[in-house]
Amino acid sequence: MPSVKYQRGDMVMGRWPGSSLYYEVKVLSFDTKSQLYTVIYKDGTELELKEQDMKSASGFQARTRSRSRSRSPGRRRSRSRSPARTTRRSSSRTAAVVAAAAITESAPSSRRDARLKEAVEVRLSPLAEAEPEKNQSRYNLRRRKDDGEAKQAEAKPEQLEEKEAKLAAAPSAIPTPLDFGGKIGAYFWLLFLPAWVLFVILQVNLADPSLANFPPPLPPIEDFWDAQALGFVVLWILFQALLYILPVGKLSEGMPLRSGERLKYRTNGFFAIVVSSVAAAVAVHQGVDLTYIHSRFLQLAVASFLISVLLSVYLYVRSRYATPERLALGGNSGNVVYDFFKGHELNPRIRDFDLKFFCEMRPGLIGWCLINFAMALAEMKYQGLDAPSYSMILVNVFQLLYVVDGLWNEEAILTTMDLMHDGFGFMLAFGDLVWVPFTYTLQAYYLVSHPNPLSLPALATIVTLKLLGFYIFRKSNSEKNAFRRNPADPKLSHLKSIPTATGKSLLVSGWWGVVRHPNYLGDLIMALAWSLPCGFSHLLPWYYMIYFIILLVHRDSRDMSECRRKYGSAWEEYCRTVRYRIIPRVY
Ligand code: NDP
Repeated sequence: MPSVKYQRGDMVMGRWPGSSLYYEVKVLSFDTKSQLYTVIYKDGTELELKEQDMKSASGFQARTRSRSRSRSPGRRRSRSRSPARTTRRSSSRTAAVVAAAAITESAPSSRRDARLKEAVEVRLSPLAEAEPEKNQSRYNLRRRKDDGEAKQAEAKPEQLEEKEAKLAAAPSAIPTPLDFGGKIGAYFWLLFLPAWVLFVILQVNLADPSLANFPPPLPPIEDFWDAQALGFVVLWILFQALLYILPVGKLSEGMPLRSGERLKYRTNGFFAIVVSSVAAAVAVHQGVDLTYIHSRFLQLAVASFLISVLLSVYLYVRSRYATPERLALGGNSGNVVYDFFKGHELNPRIRDFDLKFFCEMRPGLIGWCLINFAMALAEMKYQGLDAPSYSMILVNVFQLLYVVDGLWNEEAILTTMDLMHDGFGFMLAFGDLVWVPFTYTLQAYYLVSHPNPLSLPALATIVTLKLLGFYIFRKSNSEKNAFRRNPADPKLSHLKSIPTATGKSLLVSGWWGVVRHPNYLGDLIMALAWSLPCGFSHLLPWYYMIYFIILLVHRDSRDMSECRRKYGSAWEEYCRTVRYRIIPRVY
C-alpha cells in the first residue's frame, strides 16, 4: 500500500453511508486511482470509503468519551427508549438511526452499550441495502453476511433490558423495499384479486365465455350469499385442521429462523389427502350429491373469501403484538393497507398450530382436488355420460398428481420462499383459501359445459408433456431440498457449488446449473399440459398458464433480489455462470 493516512489492517472509525454515524472498521486496501479505502465492518459488510469519511479510532474515542460525559443519564435513557417505541411505527428507519446515534454517542466504553451498539450496527446493513443505488454510487456496498448471521449477532443481547433487546432483535423495524407496486399496489391488489376471481367464475358459467362477452352479467345480490355454503366451507377447514393436529406422521424441522430457532411442523399432508379422498368416496357412495359444489360454486367462493378476510384481519392484529424476532422482514411499511396485504408475522401459531403452513398445504390444496372431482361428477350428470371425458380425466389426474406430490414431499415446502421469507397476511391467506381452490379448478369447471374431445395422438402428446414437466419439477426441487438439508450428502458429491460468505453454498451444476429456476420451468411445462386438454376455443382455460407465467417471472425477480442481498458477489458469480433464469437460451 502506498504512503497514505491509513494502512492495511488499521482499525479506524468509518462513517456509515447516509448517516453521521461512525463504526469501527478494518482497512483492507487503498485504491490510488479512485482514492478510496476498502474497509470491512464488524458485520462483514465491505464498503469503499473516502478518507474524509474515516477517523482514527483513538481521536474518535476521546471525542465521544468527552461527549458522553456531558450527557445526563436521564437524557441517555430517554433516547434509547424512543426507538423501541417506534419499532412498529412508520418512522422505524429513522428510529434505527436515532437508536444507533444514541448508543454511539452515549457510552461506547461500557460493555453493555458496546454490545447493543454492535447489534444495532448489524441492523443498519439492511438499511443501506434498502437504498442500494443511492449508496452504491458513492460507497460501493458489498454485503458479506446473511440475515441468519446478522440475527445471531442481534440475538446476543439476551440479557439486556427488554426494550433494548427487542430493539436489537428487530431488523423488521427497518422497512424493506416494498413489493407488488408498494402502497398503491396493495390497494389495487386488494380490490383486483377478489374482482378477478368473481369475473372468471361468472365468465366460465357463460355458454360462450369469450372476451367478446365481457363483462359477464352480474347475478342478483342475494345469489352471492348462502349460509349453508359458508357452513360447508367452515366444516371443511375444521375437518382439515383436525387431520393436521392428529399425531400421525413426521414432525419435520423448518429452516433456522433469524433467532436460530427451528420450528417443528407436522408433515402429515399425504395422510390428510388419503383420509379426505376416502371421506369423499364414502359420501358419494352414501348418495351425497357432490355436484352441489358445481352449482353453488360462486357462493362457496364468497364464503371462502369472507373467511380469508377475517383470517387476514386476525393476522394483522396479532402481528402488531408479535415480538420482533417473530416478524418477517417485509410487511412493516407502517401503511395499514400494505401491511395487511403483505403480512408481517412470519410463522403465526396458535400453540403448535402453524396457521401459514396449514393454509398453504391443506384446505385449499386438498379442496382443489375435491372441487375437480365434483366437476367430473357434474360433467357426467349434465352431459349424460357414464364416465368423465378424457379431457376431464387428464385435468383431474394431472392436478391430483401435482397436489399429491406436494403433500408427499410436504417437507420441501419448508425451504420455499413462502415459508421462509413471506409474512402471513391477506396475500397468502386469500391465495391459499380462495385463489387456489376457485381459480386453479377453472379448467375442470370449463370442461363441464365445454366438452373438448381428444384424439389419441393429442392425448399421448399431452401426457408426455406432463411427465416431462413433472420430472424436471420434482428432480430440481428434490435436488435443492436435499442440498439445503445436507450439503455434505454423499449422493450430491458430484454437484459443483459456489461457497458464499453466509456459510451456505449455491449449486452451480445439476439442475441448478441449467437455469436459475429449473423448478419453475418444470412447473410451466406442467401448466401447459393442464390447459391443452381444454382446446383452443376460448382463452379462459388458458388463464392459469398466462397467470402462472406472470407469477413465476415476478417471483423469480423477487427471489433474485433476495438472493443478491443475501449472497452478494457469490450470487453475481452464480448469475454469470448460469445465465438464464427459467428457460434455457430464451429467458
Ligand atoms: P424455490 O424453491 O426455487 O426457492 C428459491 C430459493 O432457493 C432461493 O431463495 C434460495 O434460498 C435457494 N436457491 C436459489 N438458487 C439456488 C442454488 N443455485 N442452489 C441452492 N439453493 C438455491 O422457489 P419457490 O419457493 O418460489 O418455489 C418452490 C416451488 O413451488 C417451485 O417448484 C414453484 O414452481 C412452485 N410454486 C408453485 C406455485 C403454484 O401456485 N402452483 C406458486 C409458487 C411456487 P436459500 O439460499 O435461502 O436456501
